[in-house]
Amino acid sequence: MTRKSALITGASRGIGRAIAHAFAQAGYDLYLTCLHSETALSEDCREYARTFHINAQGFCVDMGDFDAVQTLFSHIPDLDVMINNAGISHIGLLSDMTTDQWRRLMATNLDACFYTCKLAVPLMVRKKQGRIINISSVWGNVGASMEVAYSASKGAINSLTKALAKELAPSNIPVNAIACGVIDTDMNRCFSEDELRALIDEIPADRLGQPQEVAALALQLAGAPAYLTGQILTIDGGFC
Ligand code: NDP
Repeated sequence: MTRKSALITGASRGIGRAIAHAFAQAGYDLYLTCLHSETALSEDCREYARTFHINAQGFCVDMGDFDAVQTLFSHIPDLDVMINNAGISHIGLLSDMTTDQWRRLMATNLDACFYTCKLAVPLMVRKKQGRIINISSVWGNVGASMEVAYSASKGAINSLTKALAKELAPSNIPVNAIACGVIDTDMNRCFSEDELRALIDEIPADRLGQPQEVAALALQLAGAPAYLTGQILTIDGGFC
């Protein structure tokens, strides 16, 4: 039996890395991307291949650059699961944000998802099989002060998810998003211990989420009935 394959963007750290580990353990062949962490990603690929007897290839790609994403897809002849995870945050007042910062965030968080879906969908439609999972945020559902651009990018991801799900349902390709609450990754290292404590005080589960919890949900979603599509699944410890 041929193994299934998954492309996971931003797989060198945090949530993407946990997702890569979970999918490797489940026997998927992997295409993994990062922006700068080439050495760490290559080591992970070797480890996944050795431990789980799968093929794992790592690529350094700016997912916000269409030409680079096209080159990435020239290495991918077939694909079962597309996980759009790579993302960046920006904390600050909207009026202080530069246009370059806005463009960079939108390119990474939103344009990248368009690029990968544009290129992954034909691979999936031709076999009437495939899955797209977008990693979103609770801020895309409810908005966050000081994170307006980030919230807008994730709100757009949620709408893209719902619309693309309708477009691809006739082709048996579910499209869903996972809206994460506060997950313990480098993305939140900018917060002081006091700020994190204040944040945790607002979370009914009384703790940050772990990347492995998001990964477990992504893996379940990849194996869920195809009738489950167009959903934004929130995993936030009851936060929002
Ligand atoms: P991290 O900062 O821990 O990791 C980000 C990953 O994305 C890294 O692998 C990084 O690669 C990669 N990356 C960043 N920019 C690019 C780019 N332009 N092209 C390719 N890869 C890129 O983030 P998290 O794991 O916390 O976040 C993952 C996703 O989860 C994001 O979409 C984020 O918005 C979302 N999320 C996270 C939450 C959290 O609390 N952590 C909450 C809600 C949503 P490299 O190592 O090379 O820099």
